Amino acid sequence: MDFNLGEQEKMVQNMARDFAERSVRPVAMEIDRKCEFPFELAREMGSVGYFGLPYPPEYGGGGAGYIGYVLVIEQLCHASMVAGAVIGINSLAEEAIFRYGSEEQKQRFLIPLAKGEQISSFAFTEAATGSDPKAIETRARPDGDDYIITGQKQFVALSPASQVAVVFAKDEKDETERVSAFIVETSSPGYQMRHPCETMGVRGLCPTVIYLDDVRVPRENLLGEPGRGYGIMLEAVSVGKLAVAAEAVGVGQGALELSLNYAQERKAYGDPIAELLSIKWLLAEMASRVEASRWLTYKTAFLRDQGASIMKESAMAKLFASQAAVDVTRMAMQVHGAYGYMKDMEIERLYRDAKLTELYEGVSEIQRVIIADHLLKERG
Ligand SMILES: Cc1cc2nc3c(=O)[nH]c(=O)nc-3n(C[C@H](O)[C@H](O)[C@H](O)COP(=O)(O)OP(=O)(O)OC[C@H]3O[C@@H](n4cnc5c(N)ncnc54)[C@H](O)[C@@H]3O)c2cc1C
Repeated sequence: MDFNLGEQEKMVQNMARDFAERSVRPVAMEIDRKCEFPFELAREMGSVGYFGLPYPPEYGGGGAGYIGYVLVIEQLCHASMVAGAVIGINSLAEEAIFRYGSEEQKQRFLIPLAKGEQISSFAFTEAATGSDPKAIETRARPDGDDYIITGQKQFVALSPASQVAVVFAKDEKDETERVSAFIVETSSPGYQMRHPCETMGVRGLCPTVIYLDDVRVPRENLLGEPGRGYGIMLEAVSVGKLAVAAEAVGVGQGALELSLNYAQERKAYGDPIAELLSIKWLLAEMASRVEASRWLTYKTAFLRDQGASIMKESAMAKLFASQAAVDVTRMAMQVHGAYGYMKDMEIERLYRDAKLTELYEGVSEIQRVIIADHLLKERG
């Protein structure tokens, strides 16, 4: 058993830390204030290879594995969760195409995504449901050599920036109308982005409602086998959850560092508040929860690098790390007192950002169901 990062991993981590301080932190407040997609930052992240970290160089990737992926996301999220989340969300379509795409689909769609030349969305959720896949209503009707997709998708992040989207729809060709996954070019006639949603935190992901009004998609854009879309979604989201866990670790670590600084600077009764036992308790709790989240996340990334399925492990990592991030940012707010509640304080933003980790890519309740189902199945 070895808990040390290798030389290459340390290098990836250090470079991401420098990138976060140089290119992310200076624009973090601005991204939050404007609530617009950070095109310039995304371009810079793409140019240093942050959109293809786990994928092999022959598909435009950096070959840094999933450990490299979580290390970078964590470091970027110290400065702004938006930066790490853009990587995580973009990797949903990448992962789906990498695992299930044909060689032609990988050449055509994965390479530009991994190189950061294009950005992708992943459209599963609908107005009526995010948690219940059987309730999705978007339909795909075969028509000659094409499919015609009709429906609406809710909260599709990165929409203003994405050239391709992996879209899930009930396949009318399948006898029982199971869900299929399609690679859709967002420039296709009938693919429309409407109703940008203003969010409480992580402002910059720009989720919107996508209207699919009879969007014609060539049959060669079907991803994997017909009717296997739900399995593809689960597999891709297992890596998305790993990213969310890393986002939670990054936000938690960011909140801890702000709190350590503040506790040593701020005085009460003539001494730094860091001398107070109540503040020490908070700092110790925060550090312990972030560290536990980190190792659960790294272990899950390690397993993925070994080629394992991480459905249970990524649910555990996301469940634990997201709860920790929400608790840690709440404690950090307490360390900061009333100043923490002010709009120009970083901790105010981290407090809002942390909550998303408990909600997207499956709410915590769904993670508990997934974990318990695996535990029971393992017992036979
Ligand atoms: C900023 C942001 C970005 C997003 N980006 C995307 C994206 O890019 N693509 C995409 O497809 N989706 C995206 N989503 C949607 C997100 O993944 C879903 O909203 C999420 O999975 C929850 O679905 P829901 O809101 O429909 O909750 P619901 O399914 O309506 O659940 C509501 C509540 O009911 C309870 N509940 C539901 N089911 C169960 C159950 N089985 N057991 C116990 N309790 C349960 C839980 O308390 C849950 O919080 C995004 C959301 C946000 C906020």
